[in-house]
Amino acid sequence: MLIDYHLHTPLCRHADGAPEEYAARAVERGIAEIGFSDHSPMPAHYDPDWRMALEDLPEYVASVLRAREKFPRLSVKLGLEADYFPGTEDFVYNVTSEYDFDYVIGSVHYIDDWGFDNAENKARFEESDVYDIYAQYFDRVARLAKTRLFDILGHPDVVKKFGHRPDRAYDELMRPALEAVKAAGMALDVNTSGLRFPCREIYPSRRMLEIAREMEIPVTLGADAHRPAHVGEGFGEAVALLRSVGYENLRRYARRTSEPVPMG
Ligand SMILES: [Zn+2]
Ligand SMILES: [Zn+2]
Repeated sequence: MLIDYHLHTPLCRHADGAPEEYAARAVERGIAEIGFSDHSPMPAHYDPDWRMALEDLPEYVASVLRAREKFPRLSVKLGLEADYFPGTEDFVYNVTSEYDFDYVIGSVHYIDDWGFDNAENKARFEESDVYDIYAQYFDRVARLAKTRLFDILGHPDVVKKFGHRPDRAYDELMRPALEAVKAAGMALDVNTSGLRFPCREIYPSRRMLEIAREMEIPVTLGADAHRPAHVGEGFGEAVALLRSVGYENLRRYARRTSEPVPMG
């Protein structure tokens, strides 16, 4: 089966289309299961313009449940994409415990005060060594996993989004991060949105997936859809990539537990 676990909703203030429209697109594309994982509320000081407010959380949950009711033959999961940022762990724990979420994606969008995946801030990539930036990014990923707050690592190497890549191999940065992901029992969000950005590549890279496969880390699929047309986009390429490194299954979630299902 095909599953798209990374769908947003307008509540995050930078996505368009009601959950029902995403669901309709999934049905058109032959996707058997979808999951909404909109940008979770975070403490007021953290990135408030790019996520739902805490008081929107009940409406978010209700809107996903409405889509579920309207598409009885489609499996519709309730998830969240929350951020890893030091000092926000208790808040994230409280928000993610408030409802019966099927899964929580954990993402790194900030290195300290730098929102590195926002195009407005990309000049900073020119100001320091890209390998060093990657080292800081993967360090945050390892710390994310160690919190045990999350089920799935969102867009695992999103630090490459604007096409900045170290001038040498960096297995030694990815391995400790992936070891922490493995130890936490998490899966990787194989995320096709990278194909839409200057890096023109699925997150994670083939090399990162090879290491993950070696460590037997499971995977999910996600389009990181910010509009209905994105649902399932690039999945042919993602499935081919996954098969070429030896993956046969996707992970499927219900109430924070998971099981493998055959992919495709
Ligand atoms: Zn977003
Ligand atoms: Zn994200």
